[in-house]
Amino acid sequence: MAWKPEATIRAIAQECPRCGAPVIHQRHGLPLVVTADAERYPPEQAAGLTGPNRLAWCLRESPWTGLRLTEVHHRACVFSHVVDHCCPPGTPLTPKPKGALW
Ligand SMILES: [Zn+2]
Ligand SMILES: [Zn+2]
Repeated sequence: MAWKPEATIRAIAQECPRCGAPVIHQRHGLPLVVTADAERYPPEQAAGLTGPNRLAWCLRESPWTGLRLTEVHHRACVFSHVVDHCCPPGTPLTPKPKGALW
């Protein structure tokens, strides 16, 4: 994947292509491509929702730079948090359309 300048790293609010839930998607700047629920949680609550395959992410929001997931939440911090999105059980697995942005 091409290197991206720091300033262009953004998370995008969109809908899950599978289940239509509001999610935050970020492709760059993290070890993974992240799709997280758009719901914001305080740190303690976010930590309680995580599991082996579900991570909480620190979310920074500003009117100037927009949304950005900065790192896996692992210590006390003051940001809001989002948790990896999981489609509800039974959501059909539809292939991503070719040529889509993500
Ligand atoms: Zn955090
Ligand atoms: Zn979904």
